[in-house]
Amino acid sequence: MPAPTTPPAGPRTNRLGLTVVDYRGGKTTLCAGCGHNAISERIVEAMFEMGVQPEQVAKLSGIGCSSKSPAYFMSRSHAFNGLHGRMPSVATGAVLANRTLLALGVSGDGDTASIGIGQFVHLMRRNLPILYVVENNGVYGLTKGQFSATADLGSRAKSGVANELPPIDLCAMAIQLGATFVGRSFSGDKRQLSAMLRAAVAHRGTVMLDIVSPCVTFNDHEGSTKSYAYMKDHDAPLHELQFVPAYEDITVDYDPGTTIDVTMHDGSHLRLKKLEEGYDPRDRVGALTRLAEASTGGDVLTGVLYVDSKAPSFVDTLNLVELPLATLPEAQVRPPRAVLDEIVDALR
Ligand code: SF4
Repeated sequence: MPAPTTPPAGPRTNRLGLTVVDYRGGKTTLCAGCGHNAISERIVEAMFEMGVQPEQVAKLSGIGCSSKSPAYFMSRSHAFNGLHGRMPSVATGAVLANRTLLALGVSGDGDTASIGIGQFVHLMRRNLPILYVVENNGVYGLTKGQFSATADLGSRAKSGVANELPPIDLCAMAIQLGATFVGRSFSGDKRQLSAMLRAAVAHRGTVMLDIVSPCVTFNDHEGSTKSYAYMKDHDAPLHELQFVPAYEDITVDYDPGTTIDVTMHDGSHLRLKKLEEGYDPRDRVGALTRLAEASTGGDVLTGVLYVDSKAPSFVDTLNLVELPLATLPEAQVRPPRAVLDEIVDALR
């Protein structure tokens, strides 16, 4: 009698019963080897692993190579490609109209640190619930490789010209302004970036991730500080990240003496095993000091630089009702006639 055969295993599904294919997008049109493609892959994996409903995500972007990348992941999600540097105000409107959406903003160093810097500043200080990813390559890739405002002092363009202006450190700015989850990573560090993105999904507040993402066409040469080679030699990780989602048993081994455990809003755990003595990402001033020291020494600090999982988000501060404003009937969003009459009478 022939032995019973086991049917071939189907593709792995997440807790929603979806496969990773349900999180994919269109075929990329970015250059082969561009760091942005790797970030799109990590976003697909993180959303799949976290069991995020694709239709609950609003992808928002501005202009630039990075801002094209939302087309290459999560086709089933909502998407809006805004004006150059204006993604934060579109995101603010979308989140306030529907607080149940998971806002995922993707921008670049040009879109964020130059034309959009004013919008960036006000987004960070409000602690709007959003996952804001900056794909940072130090150049304007879409317009042929001019230095952007995050290019390091003295770094060299492909033509050999040295950058004479100091960079804007978006992480330091975000921490100083009030963002409650700030991290820096590298598109080539699959493990660190995956853990960081999953933790970011569990956070309720502004997450700002500055991800060094080499531009292979205009900024991957000797003299660049945003190249694959430079990151390989100067990446200084602060800790090893472990992320345990709320729906999984907490079985990770760790040594309490050298590990910081942060409970996220949804009950998930972010574990940071210290590689550097004395660094505590819950210490805002300490984070700013360490960033300043690293930039002087030419290191690129990576990891969760700052996290505050207790601060109220913008929707809490505004005391928004639980139901999305966009779904409320007109009778519930307009003051009754009697109230308007009362105001008018008081002004007579
Ligand atoms: Fe990526 Fe640079 Fe090509 Fe733009 S020009 S897609 S940033 S490698």
